[in-house]
Amino acid sequence: MVEAQLVGLDPRVEAFLQGGPKKLFIGGDFVESVSGKTFDSVNPANAEVITAVYEADKEDVDRAVEAAERAFYGDWAKVTPSERGRLLWKLADLMDDHLEALAQLESLDNGKPVAHARAVDIPLAIDHFRYYAGWATKISGELIDSSAGRSMLTYTRREPVGVVGQIIPWNFPILMSAWKLGAALATGNAVILKTAEQTPLSALYLAGLIQQAGFPDGVVNIISGFGPTAGAAIVTHPRIRKVAFTGSTEVGKLIMQQASGNLKRVSLELGGKSPNIIFPDADFSKAIPGALMGIFFNQGQVCTAGSRLFVHKKVYDNVVADMTSHAAKMKLGPGLDESTDIGPLVSAEQFSRVSGYLHKGVEEGATPTTGGRPLEHPGYFVPPTIFTDVSDQMTIAREEIFGPVVVALPFDDEAQIADVIRRANNTEYGLAAGVWTTDVRKAHKVAHALEAGTVWVNCYNALDASVPFGGYKQSGFGREMGSAALELYTQVKAVWVNLD
Ligand code: NAP
Ligand code: MG
Repeated sequence: MVEAQLVGLDPRVEAFLQGGPKKLFIGGDFVESVSGKTFDSVNPANAEVITAVYEADKEDVDRAVEAAERAFYGDWAKVTPSERGRLLWKLADLMDDHLEALAQLESLDNGKPVAHARAVDIPLAIDHFRYYAGWATKISGELIDSSAGRSMLTYTRREPVGVVGQIIPWNFPILMSAWKLGAALATGNAVILKTAEQTPLSALYLAGLIQQAGFPDGVVNIISGFGPTAGAAIVTHPRIRKVAFTGSTEVGKLIMQQASGNLKRVSLELGGKSPNIIFPDADFSKAIPGALMGIFFNQGQVCTAGSRLFVHKKVYDNVVADMTSHAAKMKLGPGLDESTDIGPLVSAEQFSRVSGYLHKGVEEGATPTTGGRPLEHPGYFVPPTIFTDVSDQMTIAREEIFGPVVVALPFDDEAQIADVIRRANNTEYGLAAGVWTTDVRKAHKVAHALEAGTVWVNCYNALDASVPFGGYKQSGFGREMGSAALELYTQVKAVWVNLD
């Protein structure tokens, strides 16, 4: 690793990190946890503690539910849709003003390159709030005319669900906060959001902006804590009516079971092992960078990561050689170095998980063309790794690695594309997929046949607040973003009025 040149910290980040453990945001105030317990948030680039954070547990969730209910039935219920939209827009403007601080904090806590946080994570989060600000005034029911003959007026209303719980992962802390909060707030719910234990900081910074924007106290509560304690308290709470979760498929299954206590509505965005298919007629000037970004962006810690790269035999050697030479040149370094392409993985735990997969790959007979070994460094660095000599049955071709590791799998059925589709679909997951071809018929045919919630044609990881996102199969259910997310956070009431 080259000597790092770190950006000077934004004074607002320094101020934020000063003054003892960071507090939970409950009922519009920053408060200590009931137990007084704290945990450390660690900089994954050097394994040093950034700051301590108060640790929420069941009692804190109870307090947050009290505050959220008070808001939901009180001040928040009186806020007009137009005002809700204005508050969301105001929050987006404040985030714009604080963009650099948010980007640096995200990089510090998660490890991701600050340049990416600045150009992708934070702007997408801001855009997300602006998009849902627009929806706040456009939530409506319908008039059902077919009952008119009976002298009945029948109409529906789309009402908020109430107090909702949201649990997010560590890979895109601010963006996932925005995905969760945007639609929930536009539709008038009150929220308790739990961040991941590895990355509590940027959402607490966001909480300060939420306070400044002027949302009524208790509408948004943001707590830091652990899954089995604070997370489980949300999932099992009898007065929380819905839980939205993003994270591993394993925890998603647990949440579904635990949420059954009060029949909470559940939506899940889970893992993936997404196929990315390169046909021989692809435009390689786009396909190669697209496939590289598809797997290595955010150190591969992306639920949609294109981690199974299917490449047609005719072009396999060239594609692998080209990708290998680019991957080998990517610069590993701390996220706060402007020139970093690949930062550290988020935590020691993730580092050892991913390192375990590198080991397993070689053990099962695969060959890394680049990377293949974690770095010896106090931080959690794993170089971009491309495996060849992989069979579909190997562990590294089946399990979600969630690191900068791709398996390159040849296929050879250009005339009959069914076989590559069968292989691409032969996974328990179904979050996303990519197709690279200049043949428009093939592109659509393959896009329709792939079992995935998102298919990218001649692009990868494209996202927009207006486009629904979610999984097929064990990648979850429910759609975030676009108008689809409004369904997650509203319920339909039918009103019958007898006119006789
Ligand atoms: P995870 O355990 O699923 O964590 C996601 C969120 O769920 C965190 O806020 C976590 O809290 C919380 N949680 C954990 N157990 C819970 C429980 N019993 N009840 C309620 N909430 C609970 O993911 P992870 O352990 O950080 O990562 C493990 C693997 O999951 C990764 O290697 C990757 O394969 C996958 N993953 C996928 C995504 C995705 O976007 N699809 C995101 C992250 C991870 P804690 O922070 O305390 O664990
Ligand atoms: Mg976990």
